[in-house]
Amino acid sequence: MTVRLSGGKHSGFTIIELLVVILILAILMAIALPLYLGALGQSEVTTCRTNMYSIAQAEAAYRARVPGHVYTTNLSDLKSDLGSNPACPAGGTYSVTISDGSELANNGLPVPAGGIIVKCSIPSHGVFAPGIDKN
Ligand SMILES: [Zn+2]
Repeated sequence: MTVRLSGGKHSGFTIIELLVVILILAILMAIALPLYLGALGQSEVTTCRTNMYSIAQAEAAYRARVPGHVYTTNLSDLKSDLGSNPACPAGGTYSVTISDGSELANNGLPVPAGGIIVKCSIPSHGVFAPGIDKN
């Protein structure tokens, strides 16, 4: 490839042609990058919410298994029901809260006292209240 600054009989690209190509690539990147990053963020939320659903399922299994049939807020109690510990793809950590009646599900509805809410430490990932939120 030969870059020339002024007219002539040489074959190759002019600096203007090169700049136009770079400009077109920059425009395409400006369009594609936000779409890509948005899709990446959305897939992280989907994976995180699937993990919260799994934790809620493990809570139900735990409650059915233990004497007294209560939920636990200690995630290490769920090891035998959960298998491997689910990890938030964005590095958040999970916690389980037992509602006192004032907690809200992800869809804004109140969680009745005694119900559980699975939370991710990353606020944009929301919470999951089994039986109230859709996964
Ligand atoms: Zn998360």
